[in-house]
Amino acid sequence: MKKESFSQLMLRARGEGAGSLFAAGLALLVSSILMILFLSLMMRTDLINEQLIKARIIAANSPAVLLFEDRDAGREMLSSFAMSQPIEDASLFFSNGKLLVQYSGEDSPAFDVLPEAWRQSHYKFGMRQLIVVQSVSVDGKDIGYVVLRFGLGHFYQRLLGYVSMILIVALAAFLIMKFSLSRMEKMVNKAESNLEYLAHTDPITQLPNRHAFNKKLAESLELASQCRGEVGLVLLDLDNFKVVNDTMGHQCGDELLRMFAQRLLETTRSADTVCRIGGDEFVVIVSRIGRTSVDVLGISKRILTVMAEPFKIGVHEFFLTASVGSSLYPWDAGDSETLIRKADAAMYSAKLKGKNTFETFMPEMDQIAQRRLALENSLRRALERNELVLHYQPQIDLRSRKVVGAEALMRWNHPEYGLVSPAEFIPVAEETGLIVALGKWALQAACQQAAAWNEAGFTSMRIAVNLSARQMRDPDLMQYIENIIRLTGLPPAQLELEITEGIMMENVHSNIKLLHGLQKEGICLAIDDFGTGYSSMAYLKRFPIDQLKIDRSFVQDIHAGSDAIIGAILAMAHSLGISVVAEGVETEDQLHFLESMACDSVQGFYFSRPLPSDQFLAYCQEMAAESSRQLAS
Ligand SMILES: [Mg+2]
Repeated sequence: MKKESFSQLMLRARGEGAGSLFAAGLALLVSSILMILFLSLMMRTDLINEQLIKARIIAANSPAVLLFEDRDAGREMLSSFAMSQPIEDASLFFSNGKLLVQYSGEDSPAFDVLPEAWRQSHYKFGMRQLIVVQSVSVDGKDIGYVVLRFGLGHFYQRLLGYVSMILIVALAAFLIMKFSLSRMEKMVNKAESNLEYLAHTDPITQLPNRHAFNKKLAESLELASQCRGEVGLVLLDLDNFKVVNDTMGHQCGDELLRMFAQRLLETTRSADTVCRIGGDEFVVIVSRIGRTSVDVLGISKRILTVMAEPFKIGVHEFFLTASVGSSLYPWDAGDSETLIRKADAAMYSAKLKGKNTFETFMPEMDQIAQRRLALENSLRRALERNELVLHYQPQIDLRSRKVVGAEALMRWNHPEYGLVSPAEFIPVAEETGLIVALGKWALQAACQQAAAWNEAGFTSMRIAVNLSARQMRDPDLMQYIENIIRLTGLPPAQLELEITEGIMMENVHSNIKLLHGLQKEGICLAIDDFGTGYSSMAYLKRFPIDQLKIDRSFVQDIHAGSDAIIGAILAMAHSLGISVVAEGVETEDQLHFLESMACDSVQGFYFSRPLPSDQFLAYCQEMAAESSRQLAS
């Protein structure tokens, strides 16, 4: 069945409303007419019966008058009836039709001689008068007739009174109905305009929504194609906005979106259209007609500049950044769909470049976006096809120089693209939600591997597995970790879960609860990328943490001022009884510095890159042999 649009529906409802009013009016009219007809018939019958009775009464009193031809008695009798009733005239006739006596009102009498035809009939109801004839009998023989004539003025007057009343009632009913219908129509109109507003407006920022954006873009392109104009599309995606919602609540997030929308409106010209097309996605349509060209780069730059100012909500200050991508009609695309896709590709490229930056569309971005789409599609089947593998990066204890643990890192062996970097596919997995399935698989595979190493003689090797934000929010997380441990038989103390500082701070209270649960199971917990987020020291004390992993950026900047930070992290961690792993150790210099600061263990290319499981085992054996050689010498 063909679907009706909202406006078509409203139009139909209105047509139906007018139709029903007409039908109701017609029904009222027909019923009023029927009622009037019925009433007039009733009144007519009543009047005839009433007058027939009178005529009968006169007839019953008339035999003597007729037999004795007593005109005086007859007149007296007739006038007494005529006085009390609206009789125009009353007459007594002999059986031969000759008049005996008559009482007459204003008009001339009905008959001077009673016509032959009238001697049988009982009454005649005309337009103006009712004539009633009643025979006077004695011993079954007609000796005369009583003829009464009534004017119908009074009858019509009464009828008119009733008719007027019926019509007034019908009219009142019609007016009430019309009034309620027009009230209903007003309410429908109001609801319609409300719905129209809601259908095209984002309720939080009051900006046009995606629906309105599509319409506006199509109009702008149409106009630009007619007037040889340009249309620039500037797409903005707020970076890490989810964190604000998760840590400060949705009310604060919404307020921030409103402030951001306001700032966007102030940055753009009134002729430009700013829309909110998704949770944290905004778009600006910039149209220019004639020879003026659209400076999408300038607009993107201006937007990022005004966004650099903090947003203040109460006592809090927030810094928002966005990844901005733009495309330009007619140069990048000739239709809205492609134009949006290209702005999206540019925005994605800005995100890949580390966010808080802008990009205009370049043809090669299309390939990147297409590759991303292809990755997204094939990632869904990667698990079934066994294309994912784990590589293990050794963690070396700095005192014993032994491999004490390994971080399991996912690798994707794509049938077409070869080895795909996790930096490329992990964000895709996170966006699509596939990360939960991938994370589960990695956890199981890593535990299985560690259990196998135990059997190979490398006992008490700790295996570190990264947990994503989505996994942390998964209510079944605890359950499936317990299942995996039970299935693989790995001692829980050998499993270490790495959670980044950012994820840990996303939902502090529920995370504390979850971490305590994991600790109770005997599982080790580590904060990953420590120093890049904004952990509060007070929280750090409350998290049941076994290990901190100093982010690689600090290790790499050892001689550029990070040494003091590393020293502070180590001192703090050790005072809380937490051991420290430094990530990304690549040089001897870095290693010596960390040793001198009493860092517990390190991980990085200086010792080894992440290795496939068999190579990792060989590496462990080599390191163990090396360490025993050193002990022997
Ligand atoms: Mg990690």
